[in-house]
Amino acid sequence: MTAALFFAAALAAAAPQAAAVPRADGLVLRSRTLGVMGTDLVIEVAGHDPAALDAAIDAAVAELVRVEDMMTDWRESPLTRLNDAAGEGPHAVPPELAKLVARALLVAEASGGAFDPTYKAFGQLWDLEATPPRFATDEQIAAARPFVGWQKVAVDLERSTITLPAGFALGLGGIAKGYGVDRAMQVLMDRGVEHAIVNAGGDLKALGKRLDLPWRVAVKHPRERERVLAVVPVSNTCLVTSGDYERFVEHAGVRYHHIIDPRTGKPSTGCMSATVIAPDAAFADAVATALCVLGPEEGLALIAKLPRTEALLVAQDGTVHRSPGLRERPRD
Ligand code: ADP
Ligand code: MG
Repeated sequence: MTAALFFAAALAAAAPQAAAVPRADGLVLRSRTLGVMGTDLVIEVAGHDPAALDAAIDAAVAELVRVEDMMTDWRESPLTRLNDAAGEGPHAVPPELAKLVARALLVAEASGGAFDPTYKAFGQLWDLEATPPRFATDEQIAAARPFVGWQKVAVDLERSTITLPAGFALGLGGIAKGYGVDRAMQVLMDRGVEHAIVNAGGDLKALGKRLDLPWRVAVKHPRERERVLAVVPVSNTCLVTSGDYERFVEHAGVRYHHIIDPRTGKPSTGCMSATVIAPDAAFADAVATALCVLGPEEGLALIAKLPRTEALLVAQDGTVHRSPGLRERPRD
């Protein structure tokens, strides 16, 4: 969760908790930091009415919690009930869940299956948070292989049903956090907020500007945490980072982490980290996960096909790769 802490720290350094004294233009900045979706959430908003801003933040936090309650695969939820009903034909789900799964399948298709919500059959063989950590064996991976493949999932948006073959399970950990960020920002906008940043552990969306300046985010190197690779001004856009440095364990010289390569059933080896800039956080989240699997070459080829999407990738050898839109950007 280094990224989460880093982004929170970066923002905290730039922003006081809440500006007690309004500025000459009457703008005040309010912020909140808390744990949600297994990560650090930071919301900052700027506007004229502190009470209204605080109420908007409350509503945005509640929205993220609502999304988490629907999409979690760690406990009872509409998603776990769907997984429990695999093999039983079309299963009714909330329309929102059907829509997000349909979008996840689009990214699965675009990425050639590097992002695949059915990775879960492999993912559940690993438990890096257990003591001692549990690693999947080659036999277990081979046995789970028939139950991975996004093409086998059927979503009916009209009836709001999802059909999973027996033995399949969906995990939305690679897209739900971004979706939650999109929803939280929508709630802020519905309440009239014009300047805001919502940052869920490195999945962030920015609106308007931070007082006089644009919101800015420093993208750091996944191993050399003091090394800033880019300082990106963000306004009305999302910046999402995935990587192998957030939650990992090292065992016999191998780094095991939480992004699974659906081709091997094992932690991905494509990139140390992938940062994606795009209008939509759910999409950027899923694409960032895909890039960690694909690596710099295939990853940048994918980015070239996606409109209004840029990426900064750090390959396994530590080299930095940028899509064209990020190459000419000033660094500070
Ligand atoms: P983070 O949650 O740390 O920001 P990511 O956005 O990269 O990281 O998402 C990683 C999560 O996505 C994993 O914890 C798991 O729930 C899920 N996941 C892992 N591998 C894949 C994959 N190949 N395709 C889709 N989802 C995946
Ligand atoms: Mg992701």
